[in-house]
Amino acid sequence: MKNNRQRVLVALLAGLLAAATAWGFAYVTNSSTGLPVKWPSPAYPLRIMLGTNPGGTIDYAAAAQAAAQDWNAIIGAIQFQGTVATGTATDRNRVNELVFAANIFGEAFDTNTLAVTTTWRLGNDRTEGDIIFNSARNWGAYNGPTQSGLVDLKRVALHELGHALGLDHPDEAGQTFSPPLPIMNSRITSNDTLTPDDVTAAQNLYGPPGTPPNNNFANATAITLANNAATVTGYNTNATKEPGEPNHADNAGGRSVWWKWTAPSAGSVTADTRGSYSDTTLGVYTGNSVNALTTIASNDDINRGIVQASTVTFNATGGVTYFFAVDGFDGDVSGLTLNLAFTQATGTLPTITAQPVSATVTAGASVVFSVTATAGASPVTYQWQFNGANLVDATSSSLSLVASSANAGTYAVIVSTTAGSVSSNTVTLTVNAAPPPPPPPPPPSSGGRGGGGAPSLWFWGALSLLGLARFLRRR
Ligand SMILES: [Zn+2]
Repeated sequence: MKNNRQRVLVALLAGLLAAATAWGFAYVTNSSTGLPVKWPSPAYPLRIMLGTNPGGTIDYAAAAQAAAQDWNAIIGAIQFQGTVATGTATDRNRVNELVFAANIFGEAFDTNTLAVTTTWRLGNDRTEGDIIFNSARNWGAYNGPTQSGLVDLKRVALHELGHALGLDHPDEAGQTFSPPLPIMNSRITSNDTLTPDDVTAAQNLYGPPGTPPNNNFANATAITLANNAATVTGYNTNATKEPGEPNHADNAGGRSVWWKWTAPSAGSVTADTRGSYSDTTLGVYTGNSVNALTTIASNDDINRGIVQASTVTFNATGGVTYFFAVDGFDGDVSGLTLNLAFTQATGTLPTITAQPVSATVTAGASVVFSVTATAGASPVTYQWQFNGANLVDATSSSLSLVASSANAGTYAVIVSTTAGSVSSNTVTLTVNAAPPPPPPPPPPSSGGRGGGGAPSLWFWGALSLLGLARFLRRR
């Protein structure tokens, strides 16, 4: 994999910002894939080197630990694991350090900046996040409204740990909110706790605690379409792979969840996982048991390595239930989105009114298989198959053959309209070897009538009269 490391610097500014209505959240993304950069491992170690104030009356390390616990309580895939220590931070040492410092690894703090999180990534994975609190500020630890000249460390740590998780400033992404304002907004406010928007933002990346309800095939969540489309969301954190479950899109995955949908009629279905917060795989199946599924379609990436959502398109048969497995590539986890769009087929599905019939013939004989199908006004097309494989140029309602040992086997015809296809019965052509040539005629005997050859006309006429006479008698 190409080395994709990149430094992202984000800061919590002092000051106030006007607020209005709310909806969202923002992420620090991998510009190559557009996906959020996330911590990949269940354990997210923090080395907290904040100590106390000189008098020992304010425990900054405890305030940072409390902030980490606030995040831990609402996310499922990872947990911060704080260790209290002493020392200074080092950039690019793959240790996530929390320190007070007068500068950011040699770079001066901006006048308004309270703290920064410096992060590194490899692909979509966070590899390091150091949090540096500006030592030029006067730090306290308190709840409620901001106090003049004293900055609450816990709410700043909450904000910076949000950056470490992968969250960005929603206000700077053009989103506006009513108080209480999100902790992840770029300015500190009187709010000192996570808001529902902060929680949603983190759960989109790491899921809530617990196991998703549609973890198992048998508990697939049913999808209902409105105006032939649906968007459903979920998460696959703590999801598992079941015994006998297939790999989806040929990737081992391991964190699959399931949805299901029953086609109301024949038509074309497109499903994709755009809007998911990690690299996904998608498989579509029919069947009743997770260890005996028929694959209908599967996909890993829409555009390999660039658009890492998955998409499939397939023709659905009316009344059939389709199962959609969404897994993370190599078991990646996050909030997931599955979009479904259905286009009902136009025209009428064909109905076969006369099936082809099996035949047993002698080699060299002519054989004709035929089918009769109706589909209202819809044009019907045919494709004959021999032993399950399409026959070239065999696309009319009948199939003419000269029997030979090479074309003995099974035959069927797929009858199609724009609404879909139906298959005829499978029939068998049995070819017997040609009989041995007839023995040569015996030599003519003397005094007999001349030669063999066809019976003469009068002889056939006599036979017919005989048959008629017998028929009349039996009335
Ligand atoms: Zn920030």
